[in-house]
Amino acid sequence: MPGGISAEEDGLAAQRIVVLGAGFAGLWSAIGAARALDELGVGADRVEIVVIDRTAWHSIRVRNYEADLDGTRVALDSVLGPIGVRRLEGEVSAIDVRQRIVTYQSGGASRDIAYDRLVFALGSRLAHPPIPGLSDHAFDVDTHAGAVRLNAHIAGLSKQSASPGQSTVLVVGGGLTGIEAAAEMPGKLRAAGIASPRVILADHAPRIGADMGAGAQPVIDQALGALGVDMRGGVSVASVDAEGATLATGERIAAATVVWCAGMQAHPLTAQFPVERDRLGRLPVEPSLKIKGLAAEFAAGDCAWLLVDDIHCSVMSCQHGRPMGRFAGHNVVCDLLGRPLLPLRIDWYTTILDLGPWGAVYTEGWERKLVSQGAAAKRTKEIINRERIYPPRSGDRRAILDAAAPTVQAPPIRFG
Ligand SMILES: Cc1cc2nc3c(=O)[nH]c(=O)nc-3n(C[C@H](O)[C@H](O)[C@H](O)COP(=O)(O)OP(=O)(O)OC[C@H]3O[C@@H](n4cnc5c(N)ncnc54)[C@H](O)[C@@H]3O)c2cc1C
Repeated sequence: MPGGISAEEDGLAAQRIVVLGAGFAGLWSAIGAARALDELGVGADRVEIVVIDRTAWHSIRVRNYEADLDGTRVALDSVLGPIGVRRLEGEVSAIDVRQRIVTYQSGGASRDIAYDRLVFALGSRLAHPPIPGLSDHAFDVDTHAGAVRLNAHIAGLSKQSASPGQSTVLVVGGGLTGIEAAAEMPGKLRAAGIASPRVILADHAPRIGADMGAGAQPVIDQALGALGVDMRGGVSVASVDAEGATLATGERIAAATVVWCAGMQAHPLTAQFPVERDRLGRLPVEPSLKIKGLAAEFAAGDCAWLLVDDIHCSVMSCQHGRPMGRFAGHNVVCDLLGRPLLPLRIDWYTTILDLGPWGAVYTEGWERKLVSQGAAAKRTKEIINRERIYPPRSGDRRAILDAAAPTVQAPPIRFG
């Protein structure tokens, strides 16, 4: 066994729940587990909860496209400390399901930690197809570090020596993330001293925003048009370099900034579980969030999929990741202590897409019926992004635990 289990890692508790990842699913799993233990009157001497993440932060990843990234991270210790959850910082590198051991890299050493129950919540990452130059030259808004790097690059553009693509940003990927990133871009460029910004939003698909449904599509067209974003469907990028991108047709787009927003894949460590994954690399889970066919392992968030309402599959989203986390946390405790598990069922689905200074668009249902737009939808988006999806930041133990009750919230408030 690489590294061995140190006395410090072995701890003193009789049993241990290990949560991998402290994003929307992982953090809420850990709080949900702490809440369940508290409710059952089980102390940390009997069951300890340990969270492992590569950073010390809970990233509000959905805000990574914004111009101001202040406040988009919450210190994990400020949430986990008051509820008695132990945090380990390190890069998870392996899971041995047979021996129930997780290996992670920390402080230059490989360490192991044993678990009685596991919640796997390492999320997803932007897919990087083997396009020459993509990994070296493209920016992204996938992680906080990537978003900081992009914003710093844009802020420095006007100080660079003049080049044909200096004022041009090419955003590739016309899904929700690409649209949100593109809608913010003209404002970011102007704030950086680029007087005549050019923003191109390109996708393979013939029409940008078609996935958002027939009701929202014209709203997206109108908003991006008003913001001066040039929408280009039917585009395939063949290579990327420091001065722009070359398309499969041979066309050259000069752009000092290429932002890759095309496609998500579940965390590659999902491959370590002996189960069949879906085309996005996700693990199949029961309504209890236990991985199908396994005895002690749960999964939640972007790395797991379940039928949320008997028909529809969960979507890689914090909308699903947070309730998946709350239920996984509750159930992992109940499973360990031989109590009944609660099935997660979500009967509603909404999409609220930020359209920059123009506003936003809010759709309801899987068929994506348009319910509000412009400033009214933007109010909803701001409440979601700045309040609803945050853990309590008061440091109040009771408030933190209460926020993780295994229930499904009502849909976001609608204005207008
Ligand atoms: C720009 C953008 C906008 C978005 N907008 C929306 C939106 O409007 N609505 C919506 O519902 N969803 C949105 N999403 C999707 C949403 O952010 C994800 O679905 C959500 O973050 C998934 O939560 P998660 O906990 O599964 O994964 P994450 O939030 O990615 O958390 C994974 C955690 O695991 C940690 N980790 C990963 N690998 C390792 C490792 N090997 N070792 C240790 N730690 C590791 C990471 O540090 C992270 O803390 C958006 C995403 C982006 C990028």
